[in-house]
Amino acid sequence: MKTTTKSVKGTKKQASSKGEKSGNEVADGLRSLFQDELKDIYWAEKALTKAIPKMIKNSTSEDLINALTDHLDVTQKQVNRLEQVFESIGIKAQAKKCEAMDGLIKEAGEIMDQTEEGVVRDAGIISAGQKVEHYEIATYGTLAAFARTLGEYEAASLLEETLNEEKEADQSLSDIADTINVEAATEDIEEDEDVQTAVKTKRK
Ligand code: FE
Ligand code: ZN
Ligand code: FE
Ligand code: FE
Repeated sequence: MKTTTKSVKGTKKQASSKGEKSGNEVADGLRSLFQDELKDIYWAEKALTKAIPKMIKNSTSEDLINALTDHLDVTQKQVNRLEQVFESIGIKAQAKKCEAMDGLIKEAGEIMDQTEEGVVRDAGIISAGQKVEHYEIATYGTLAAFARTLGEYEAASLLEETLNEEKEADQSLSDIADTINVEAATEDIEEDEDVQTAVKTKRK
C-alpha cells in the first residue's frame, strides 16, 4: 500500500514539474491509446473474416463447423459495429496491423498443417480459436473500460455488445471441446489397440 502511494506521488511530481496540465495530458494520452487499440482490433476482426473460413474448411465436427460459421457471421457484424464506434467518437475507421492476431492466425495455420484431419485437428482448431477469443475478450474489456472513462458511452455500449459475443463464442468452443477432446483421446487409445492387435496377429 505504502509503495503504491509513493509511486503515485512520484508521478504527480513529474507531471507538475512539466507545468500543471496533467489532467488534460492524461486524458489526451488515454484517448489516443483508445483510438490506436480500436484500429488494432479493427485490423484483427477483418483478418478473422478471412481466417475463420479456412478453419471451417479444415474442421470435420458438425458442431464445430456450425459454431465457426455462426461466429464468422458475428465477426462480420463486429467489423461494422467497430465502424459505428469510430463514427461515434468522430474519427474515420482505420485499420492498423495487429501483430498479436497475425501471430495467432499463423499459429492456427501451423496447427492445421501439422495435424491429421479429424478429431485431433478439430481439437487443435478449437484451441487456436479459443486463444483468439481470449485475446478479443481482453481487448474489448479494456476498450469498453477506456470508453467509459473517456465518457464515450455509445462506444462503450457497442464495445460491450461485442465483448459479450466473444464470451459466448469462447463458451461454445469450450462446450464442443468437452466432446471432441474425449473423442480425440479415444482415437489415441484405439490406435494403441490397433498396434497391439497387429502385434498379436503377427505373433500368431
Ligand atoms: Fe471478434
Ligand atoms: Zn490486437
Ligand atoms: Fe495488437
Ligand atoms: Fe471472436
